[in-house]
Amino acid sequence: MKKAMVFSIEEFATYDGPGIRTTVFLKGCPLRCEWCHNPEGQSTKNQIIKSQNGCTGCGRCVKEARFVGKRIEYTERSIEVCPNRLLRYCGVWYTSEELVDKIGENADILNASGGGITFSGGEPLSQHEFLFECLKRLKNKTSRAIQTSGYCDSDVFKKILSETDYVLYDIKLVDEDAHIRYTGVSNKKILDNFKILVESGKEFVVRTPLIPGVTDTVENLNGIATLLAENQVSYIELLPYNSFAGGKYASVGMEYHPSFDEGLRPQPHIDIFEEKSIQVKIM
Ligand code: SF4
Repeated sequence: MKKAMVFSIEEFATYDGPGIRTTVFLKGCPLRCEWCHNPEGQSTKNQIIKSQNGCTGCGRCVKEARFVGKRIEYTERSIEVCPNRLLRYCGVWYTSEELVDKIGENADILNASGGGITFSGGEPLSQHEFLFECLKRLKNKTSRAIQTSGYCDSDVFKKILSETDYVLYDIKLVDEDAHIRYTGVSNKKILDNFKILVESGKEFVVRTPLIPGVTDTVENLNGIATLLAENQVSYIELLPYNSFAGGKYASVGMEYHPSFDEGLRPQPHIDIFEEKSIQVKIM
């Protein structure tokens, strides 16, 4: 049985698919989006995170930490010496059986709302074998959703789709060079898998984060709207940049220096979608 590391389980989530859902955040992501608001989900390693709330700045945890370039890695000793117990490991290992037993407890409540379970991350497809086991175990018990960048090989994507009821699919940038620049990877697999998703007949929603000057440009939103229209997709959810996104970086010893101007207000350009009869919801 496969094991995977989970960094958060959020109950009664209302933004991660239809109805009320339990969202499971799996660690590990092949992308490095500049605006990532879950930095603790990027690495597959079990990092130690520090809560800033209640920190007196005594520096004991830092004295016991290691430095990797500019990044600070807290150690077991850092956890032990904090007088306010503000440091902890952020990941927990689960087998698929353990995880499904835990998250399946509320299935009746979730089902009554038209909801279910959503696997997010990080990138849930980066632990696809574990994800597949979980999805199979949840079959006929509740609605199974994945929230994904779509960045994986197409055979993996098809296999996961076969056991998924609903997909929240991120499309960030249509220009490949811009995608590489801002996320660290090409969007080729993502766009190929989008076609597979459309052809699968599965229920899905496309989501685009609105990052000022990056994804919210007329050119990019026009490209996304055209892609949706070509595939007869008539609805999109836009997620405006959260200016608190950088707050978590210090807690995992990382620095946050996005190249875009965080002070700018993201522009949804709803008219671009409306011109193509695509309904927009701003989340
Ligand atoms: S040891 Fe605890 S209180 Fe002191 S700086 Fe570290 S986190 Fe803050």
